[in-house]
Amino acid sequence: MYDFVVVGVGPAGARFARRAAEDGYDVLALEKGAVGEPLACSGHVSTDIWDFVPSEARDRLFQNRIYGANFYTGGPDAESHCFYKTDEVSNVIDRVELDRTLADCARRAGADIRENHTVTAVDEQPDHVEVTASAAGDEGTQTFEARMVAGCDGPVSRVRQAAGLPEPTEKLHGVLAFTDEVDHTDYVDVHLTVPGFFAWRIPRGEAGVEYGLAAPPGDDVTALFETLTEQYGVETDRFCSGAIPIGPPDTVSTDRIFLLGDAAAQTKPFTGGGILYGMTAADCAARHIQPHRPESLAIYEDAWRESLSTEIRLGHLIRRAYSLPEPVQQVGLTALAGEIGVHMDKPSSFFSKTHLKRLFS
Ligand SMILES: Cc1cc2nc3c(=O)[nH]c(=O)nc-3n(C[C@H](O)[C@H](O)[C@H](O)COP(=O)(O)OP(=O)(O)OC[C@H]3O[C@@H](n4cnc5c(N)ncnc54)[C@H](O)[C@@H]3O)c2cc1C
Repeated sequence: MYDFVVVGVGPAGARFARRAAEDGYDVLALEKGAVGEPLACSGHVSTDIWDFVPSEARDRLFQNRIYGANFYTGGPDAESHCFYKTDEVSNVIDRVELDRTLADCARRAGADIRENHTVTAVDEQPDHVEVTASAAGDEGTQTFEARMVAGCDGPVSRVRQAAGLPEPTEKLHGVLAFTDEVDHTDYVDVHLTVPGFFAWRIPRGEAGVEYGLAAPPGDDVTALFETLTEQYGVETDRFCSGAIPIGPPDTVSTDRIFLLGDAAAQTKPFTGGGILYGMTAADCAARHIQPHRPESLAIYEDAWRESLSTEIRLGHLIRRAYSLPEPVQQVGLTALAGEIGVHMDKPSSFFSKTHLKRLFS
């Protein structure tokens, strides 16, 4: 009997597996493919990311430093509004390598990480949970027993479905692709041209340039993406696509199963970013959940919401601005553009003394 079986070894699962193993628990983590693959993420994160990885990994992961963003209500030829900081706002990192690094940290802490193991069933019993996984190769199907199961299996979570937990409020469809042009500039471009969300261009240093967008289901993301790349006059390759859950459900746990990361929609509603929120929630889970005490799951529910729900609520408000009429967006962007004092993961920092001082100076 394992203390925890973790389903999915993305940032949330790897972080939880590491922290739980460091606390001395017996942890098995099952990943359906190879850790980090396939890529479906920009890896554009606040500099807080460096608190979650060993310092020797920094050179391997780092691709570019970002100081701000140019906002457009139209394509790249339209007028832009620049928001910037004198210190770096964010970094662009190698996302595949991030996942591998986080998984290695979990392995070193003692977690048993098994790749090519797809979880096909999760059956919650009064005193344990049975997890069935089908392994690639000769290993066939195996069933594991755990006191608790962490569902870290991303936006289309099988664990969430098996546990009968509610779905996120919404799932956007995100796409991205790359060109090979080397670009060390330090601003991202944001185009408010997609219904209810935005399109982007991210300079990734030697790793090229990324073009991407996310849109609500029903919108033709392929056509929107073609328009974006035509406007920039580029041909992209290595096209990737994935779901972005927005809006966590009211509950993300049962008696012995809990969700983390995208499975719990622990994401920023105004960017879709979930790497840091997922790992923050993983830390809350590791701090509070005790596998022998099902009642500790209620403490996890309160703790992660206390850490993230104000930011998520304010993030929803920011996102509403993406749907305002263009003339109103123009007025708002003109009024707010310039130096900012905000933290990209914390919309509440918009009301910080530093930011308000910069806004009114
Ligand atoms: C186009 C796009 C761009 C994005 N850009 C950013 C960005 O710049 N910054 C940012 O912070 N976030 C970004 N995100 C969001 C970010 O990718 C997610 O929030 C993050 O990956 C969530 O981590 P996770 O560990 O919860 O889930 P995931 O990273 O999705 O990991 C889940 C893991 O579970 C595995 N799995 C799934 N089902 C099973 C199963 N049945 N059995 C075993 N394993 C299973 C998967 O293979 C996967 O490895 C982007 C998302 C998209 C789609």
